[in-house]
Amino acid sequence: MTQDTVARPVHRGATPAAQARPATETPATTATTATGQPYRYLRRELVEPDWTRLPGWRGVTAEQWASAQWQRSHCVKNVGQLRAVMGDLLTERFYADLERDQAERATMSMLVPPQMLNTMVPSTDGDAPDAGEGYTEAFYADPVRHYMFPVFSDRRTDWPSHPFATRDSLHEHDMWVVEGLTHRYPTKVLAELLTTCPQYCGHCTRMDLVGNSTPAVPKLKFDLKPSDRLEKMIEYLRHSPQVRDVVVSGGDVANMPWRGLEQFLLRLLEIDNVRDIRLATKALMGLPQHWLQDDVVDGMGKVARLARERGVNLAVHTHVNAAQSVTPLVAKATKAMIAAGVRDVRNQGVLMRGVNDSVEQLLDLCFALQDGATITPYYFYMCDMIPFSEHWRVSLAHAQELQHAMMGYLPGFATPRIVCDVPYVGKRWVHQAHEYDQVHGVSGWTKNYRTSIEAADPEALTRTYPYFDPIDTLPAQGQAWWASNVDTERLHQLAIERAASSRASAAAHAPSGVFGDFVL
Ligand code: SF4
Repeated sequence: MTQDTVARPVHRGATPAAQARPATETPATTATTATGQPYRYLRRELVEPDWTRLPGWRGVTAEQWASAQWQRSHCVKNVGQLRAVMGDLLTERFYADLERDQAERATMSMLVPPQMLNTMVPSTDGDAPDAGEGYTEAFYADPVRHYMFPVFSDRRTDWPSHPFATRDSLHEHDMWVVEGLTHRYPTKVLAELLTTCPQYCGHCTRMDLVGNSTPAVPKLKFDLKPSDRLEKMIEYLRHSPQVRDVVVSGGDVANMPWRGLEQFLLRLLEIDNVRDIRLATKALMGLPQHWLQDDVVDGMGKVARLARERGVNLAVHTHVNAAQSVTPLVAKATKAMIAAGVRDVRNQGVLMRGVNDSVEQLLDLCFALQDGATITPYYFYMCDMIPFSEHWRVSLAHAQELQHAMMGYLPGFATPRIVCDVPYVGKRWVHQAHEYDQVHGVSGWTKNYRTSIEAADPEALTRTYPYFDPIDTLPAQGQAWWASNVDTERLHQLAIERAASSRASAAAHAPSGVFGDFVL
């Protein structure tokens, strides 16, 4: 992927005073091309960036690079390890910024596989910036860096967290029918098999449970033994004929030893009511080497054959946010899965400021996926309302503009929907808001089914559920309203407490009385 897909920075290096001004969301469409079209399609060849350009990997061979084991054992887990790879390409300014974020704000610990780090400032046009300040600025500006190595100066200082941001913002835990099995929609469930991934994304919506504890966020742990949990999941599905669709997730299923994953999938395939199985793995992009291992490809072939015989749709869902992440190795792993018999590989990206919040970035990514890697663009989620995520989130209005601007370029079946995952409601297309107060940044949403905790709730289908824009994106009047209705000092303290506290005490801290009668 070429350099022209690399985004501009948003907020990078902004001073606190500058951050207090209304943020500029990237215009949905930034230019009109010579063809008169707002977006110019160019077919681009995928390119694997040269890892030997990075000082720590000068001697790494192609064989080592292709090894999943080598990739796993050389993940960057702390600032010292990043320094060992990048050396003096980056200045101390960046390392200190990263270290401070890990100590004070990060909701996810650091874990970046070499494959992902190699796609930051990819320099595939031979245009690498000079070591030092030049490289550091390019690294700060890089879209993949923005969410895989979040730094303290990325975070907003005026509204670092929304007043209604919470751990487990989608209330999945409340809807567990078995520990880790979320029954949130009438016919489908989410099975969290494990709580680890080969890579940790700064914006992870499951920051409550997934990954290692950070200084700001002690993670919750499952109580049951893994084998008991999985057994109970299978039992629940056997006795739930209304459930036809199982998202097998985590974490990331690439962290489950293949034999264990295969056993679980074979048992799912024995349950007659299960008609769709979707395997969730960001590692298809972050660690494609995993999905190219012989035992994994052969095992997937065996599971896919059985699925096909039984008429079950087996698909892989991945999570790619930037076009530069789509490399030949990602395409090779995807094609291996399709050749093994998986029906489709689809992408569920996350829409984020500083990463992919312009139509050029989104369409460049979708075409890289569709043209180069046989991955179907499927969804872009709005970034969820977790603590310290405001610098990533975009307003609903901006998401609506982006959806409009994307229409008509891709085939209909590969035109992704931008969705808002509304707490207690579920995924809604961004144009489905029932009401929207753009001044205060509050949208209202309705739904047409009950979650597993609402069987006896007479108002579940008539209530309007709120969702909130990032306050810094609101017009002055809206920002003033929030500023006069929120004690920002108290809010800051609350954000820190809420990030650190368990779900139960987070709920007890919820400032529901302050903002009127919004349902929370
Ligand atoms: S791969 Fe998915 S589950 Fe894992 S940290 Fe990233 S967003 Fe979270």
